[in-house]
Amino acid sequence: MKSFGQVFARRDWGETRNRIASQRTRDVERALASSRRSDTLDMGAFLALISPAAEPFLGEIVNESRARTRRRFGNVIQLYAPLYLSNECRNICTYCGFSADVRRPRLTLDEAGLTKEVDALASEGFAHLLLVSGEAPREVGIDYFLRCIPVVRQRMSQLSMEVQPLSEEEYVRLGDAGVSAVLVYQESYDEAGYARFHPKGKKADFAYRLDTADRLGRAEIKKIGLGALLGLSDWRTDAFMLASHLDYLRTTYWRTHYSVSFPRLRPAEGGFAPPARVSDKALVQMIAAFRLFDASVDLVLSTREPASLRDRLIPIGVTTMSAGSKTEPGGYASPGSDALQQFEISDDRPPPEIASVLRRAGLNPVWKDWDAVFDA
Ligand code: SF4
Repeated sequence: MKSFGQVFARRDWGETRNRIASQRTRDVERALASSRRSDTLDMGAFLALISPAAEPFLGEIVNESRARTRRRFGNVIQLYAPLYLSNECRNICTYCGFSADVRRPRLTLDEAGLTKEVDALASEGFAHLLLVSGEAPREVGIDYFLRCIPVVRQRMSQLSMEVQPLSEEEYVRLGDAGVSAVLVYQESYDEAGYARFHPKGKKADFAYRLDTADRLGRAEIKKIGLGALLGLSDWRTDAFMLASHLDYLRTTYWRTHYSVSFPRLRPAEGGFAPPARVSDKALVQMIAAFRLFDASVDLVLSTREPASLRDRLIPIGVTTMSAGSKTEPGGYASPGSDALQQFEISDDRPPPEIASVLRRAGLNPVWKDWDAVFDA
């Protein structure tokens, strides 16, 4: 069966890193010229746009990204909130507050707790939720998800999930239950680094995780969300591998929609220090390069970034953002509880304030762009 793993096996991390470093001005000029002729770029052009050689062209790349985003998406920014179902996790991920080696009590929402969270978010105007959980198949497996989904769908028109990688058959069941998007980040495509940051648990299986988007594609989930956790390894090489993943998927599962997220590592329980710093300028370059790479991909920005930076990043290519996020189960209905958080958020402005910021920037905050009736 065809999979991205076969494409990835032909890509070498070190060689790719060297190719990025050896790009020249003329490569960047060629990539920019291609971006003016086409809505998608090939991998060679993307390589040039994320290289150090592209840095003197950053203004031009950003302007092109900004114009292309408005042409394709209008002035609309989709808003969503993450809802944490559980902070149980069997994996050890060295950067995460939910890591199994963090000795803190764990909590999984029951139906009453979930209803309170959904009601709290609905009263703030949200119609699109992202259900999030740690990876603990016994406590939060497919049967639990299938019990939660109808509770959420009673009040929400759009439902995405970011949970443990599942089987193709389980993804079909999620799709049938009304989940329109599933996010699964590879975290890093640097296989050696991946092994260091994920020493224990099912997530240590790099290849199984890499194959997840293929299982989603075969299960015909409407939208697949990709991402790399910025700060784990060289961001340029991870960006190239991530784009390569998207390139493969958009060709193989061409009916599916895609999103790319740019989570930068934040402080979490345990005091993990990101080994590969990613500057604000690098984040700008990466977002704009992805927009030129694919005019129609959703680009997602979370509340991990500080308010002032988010305000500057939004117009350059982002199409979807979270607002007012809590990263612990029960955080919306019972703010200030001592439940274990996954990480500290940085932009803690309430949703109405984010909506005002968007309007002042000439953008329309949209709380709902889908309805169950479209699924019928
Ligand atoms: S990143 Fe995910 S899998 Fe890893 S410890 Fe955190 S919740 Fe668990």
